[in-house]
Amino acid sequence: MRVEIITTGTELLLGEIVNTNFVYLATELNKRGFDVLYQTTVGDNPERLQAALAVAAGRADLIVLSGGLGPTQGDITKEMVAAYCHLPLYLDLETWNHIHNIFSKRQMCMTENNEKQALVPEGALILKNQVGTAPGLVVEYDQHFFVLLPGPPFELKYVCEHEFFPYLEAKFGGQGVIQSLTLKVRGLGESLVAEKLVELISKQTNPTIALYARDGGILVRLTAKAATAEKAGKLLHKLDLKVQKLLASHVYGYDDETLAAALGKVLLAKKQTIAFAESCTGGLASSLITDIPGSSEYLKGSVVTYSNEAKHNLIHVSKTSLSKYGAVSKQVACEMATGVRDLLGTDLGVSITGIAGPGGATRTKPVGLVYIAVADKEGVVCTKNLFTGLRTQIKLRSALTAIGMAYDKITGSLTDPTEEMKR
Ligand code: ATP
Repeated sequence: MRVEIITTGTELLLGEIVNTNFVYLATELNKRGFDVLYQTTVGDNPERLQAALAVAAGRADLIVLSGGLGPTQGDITKEMVAAYCHLPLYLDLETWNHIHNIFSKRQMCMTENNEKQALVPEGALILKNQVGTAPGLVVEYDQHFFVLLPGPPFELKYVCEHEFFPYLEAKFGGQGVIQSLTLKVRGLGESLVAEKLVELISKQTNPTIALYARDGGILVRLTAKAATAEKAGKLLHKLDLKVQKLLASHVYGYDDETLAAALGKVLLAKKQTIAFAESCTGGLASSLITDIPGSSEYLKGSVVTYSNEAKHNLIHVSKTSLSKYGAVSKQVACEMATGVRDLLGTDLGVSITGIAGPGGATRTKPVGLVYIAVADKEGVVCTKNLFTGLRTQIKLRSALTAIGMAYDKITGSLTDPTEEMKR
């Protein structure tokens, strides 16, 4: 079943709203085994919507439209589909009553415009909308199925979940399912991951493999299509094992699992505690750690030591190191990590000190230079990082790298502490 999604609304083309309806529909239809092959966005213009319908009918069997079912003159989707399918519109009494009841409850008068929403193309199936006035519709014409859904995202989801998806299941059940599993990888660049997986990638059929770079790490997405969820799960599991074997400990989690959650898991498993001394990140690393429920089990506390005085007074960074090497230096990062570890009596102490920009750079210390150190009972390791991007991006990359280094330290894969990392 070839599917095209048409989202309507001039505000989408002006970039005023994000097309979340497309994301929702594409995700849900793919999950149910429908091949979404095209998407079109078209403004509230009769000629262009007619043209979009003709193009879609030439390349898809199921054409799903969202928006333009409202009461105003600009809402033309139903009229255009009816015209395209040569179907007259009639006043559907049940829909009229539904709209009338909504207006009565709100103690408002129904206008002629609202009556327009009760007009239905002859022969259309009505998808009831209990959370709004405009119902969804399914129009069958010339071996095509046109599905019209309301634009407001809340109404769209309601009509899909209660009416449209059950209709699809009853009418076209057995399309199979498409399932994805995303492995989260760190410590390797995209090209290195591609190199390690080259054989699997070149032979991919079902499941497929796709790589994406995200937040300083790499995502490896496996996607399987099968008759049932169980069969798709088995296909994914088999390939997951192969990928794991090739990427070994670089895989730290799946799907929505964050690096902070992965670190939390290993800290809990090893019954270890952690503390952060943050300068340029201003507490962001600690904030990411505390996004994980139950993090109080392993995060004892953190300090934001933004000034030299705070670095010296709170975590005993030596005045000599601060004046000789500067606050952004390997020496200060190491003293911050050991200092916060001593202060809070944790197994690990992690520090971040750098220049987030846009100001503050010197000839030898550019914006994006960030030292990150991890101290444990055996000593302290430090990396020199050169991050690119805006201030907030540099802060986020610094925080994620610090969390990643702590993860590597505790899992035993922090190997080359003198390495200079460029991102
Ligand atoms: P209404 O009865 O509210 O007029 P409608 O079915 O005619 O509903 P539209 O008028 O096209 O739908 O859109 C209503 C609102 O829904 C828009 O102002 C916008 O906020 C939201 N909306 C519409 N389409 C999308 C979309 N593709 N993605 C996200 N939001 C959308």
